[in-house]
Amino acid sequence: MANSLGEETKRIVAQFDYTDDDVNKGVREFLRQMNEGLQKDGTSISQIPTYVTGVPDGTEKGLYMAVDLGGTNFRVCSVHLNGDTTFNLTYSKVAIPKELMVAKTSKELFGFLAKQIEIFLKKHHEEHFEAHVHRRKSSKAPEGYEEESMFQLGFTFSFPVQQFGINKGSLIRWTKGFDIPDTIGKDVCALLQDEIDLLHLPVKVAALVNDTVGTLMARSYAAPGKTTTLIGAIFGTGTNGAYVEKITNLQKSVDGKYDKSTGEMVINTEWGSFDNQLNVLPNTQYDAKLDQDSVNPGIQIFEKRVSGMFLGEIVRLAVVNLYENTNVSLFKGASNTNDGQSTTHIGDGSGLFQQWGLDSSLMSVAAADTTPELSTLRQELDSQLQIRSASVEDAQAFKDIADAIGRRAARLSAVALGGIVIQSGRLKETKDELVDIGADGSLVEYYPHFREMISEAFKATEGIGAEGAERIRIGIATDGSGVGAALIALVAERME
Ligand code: ADP
Repeated sequence: MANSLGEETKRIVAQFDYTDDDVNKGVREFLRQMNEGLQKDGTSISQIPTYVTGVPDGTEKGLYMAVDLGGTNFRVCSVHLNGDTTFNLTYSKVAIPKELMVAKTSKELFGFLAKQIEIFLKKHHEEHFEAHVHRRKSSKAPEGYEEESMFQLGFTFSFPVQQFGINKGSLIRWTKGFDIPDTIGKDVCALLQDEIDLLHLPVKVAALVNDTVGTLMARSYAAPGKTTTLIGAIFGTGTNGAYVEKITNLQKSVDGKYDKSTGEMVINTEWGSFDNQLNVLPNTQYDAKLDQDSVNPGIQIFEKRVSGMFLGEIVRLAVVNLYENTNVSLFKGASNTNDGQSTTHIGDGSGLFQQWGLDSSLMSVAAADTTPELSTLRQELDSQLQIRSASVEDAQAFKDIADAIGRRAARLSAVALGGIVIQSGRLKETKDELVDIGADGSLVEYYPHFREMISEAFKATEGIGAEGAERIRIGIATDGSGVGAALIALVAERME
């Protein structure tokens, strides 16, 4: 029995192999699809222009504001950029009342958001606030003062928007439990600005911010050395990336005004939908089932193989397949545990048999446990999945499958990142400078060796190779919606 468990596990693990050859095929197709997205609308990789035409180098200075409407919470902060790659951040967070997520009018939600900005200003920037109100009431306000005392604000709005200017964008649809039909098609920056103005706050909504662009900016400001950052990437619940593209490569029409002098623009790739047509992406029976049973079959196909929301589910489907295989014994029968002989069994209501019942964080536990006894993993199998008294062999089978899926995700991530590095030409343009990538999200932050596995795949990539891989640095940038959004407000201000 034990032998066949090992063999059957190996068979499943092999299904998740993503060879060097696959990486290269993936990169070629990624480059093809990203260039197609630069030429026309309606392609797999959307390549959305962001109107942000430069990234910071760490010397930027000033006091800016940022707000973030992402899901459960609304965050307000002010950021003091010190001009030496450091910053000071003041921050507050409030839960969004459920009834406002499904309010009748946009005004109810956006009025609430403006109110939170007012509370924040009164608490943390009273002087600034009072001065503004005083000047507003006085007819003798010196010319230009009003502008100077205005806070420029970056608005991170993590819902699908059609952007048509650095601070203009209309809502395409609500997601994540929000449903206010009145907002669809409206400019969300204008909605927020109107409510801010009704409260007479000294705040200008200067920029609409996508979280990947925020990550890119935050990293570029804080990155060590003089290098600016090429890519901002998120590997969390979902996955996406933004990067700096040459304007000459952006051949589709861009409405609205932007600064053409830099010759560059940050592009939000929306790479989660890379290869929705499955030209090159792997498609095991588990991937296919996950997609089929999802709320959006055929969509976000790359994301469904890479991000935190989905990896646990792929592991679950593969492990259940092994559990149901009558030729092997997994999580059944007698096992040797620390307490002697026990019977392995699975508690009622275990997440192992429920869709989305296995959180990707368990994969990090599996990857981190390299002890012969796998005690930590067995403990977590018990507490997270109610798998009681799992044997070492059981835990090993679980670990091998989870590790294979994690490794495939990292190598797929390398396809997207490597494709962009090659597209940028930066490895060739300079001989020894580093190509910097800012990354955010629990997967890249906490999954053991995620970045090393990406780097391994870079080594095998034509156009990068071992030498190139050495020159690509991935740094964690955790504050995209705070300092990143503030930096975009600064860029917007300079554009005026
Ligand atoms: P978000 O992307 O929503 O801002 P996170 O970056 O924290 O938030 O990502 C959350 C996702 O990451 C969830 O899908 C969760 O299952 C997964 N996750 C959380 N912790 C870990 C971990 N240690 N290892 C792997 N995945 C994790």
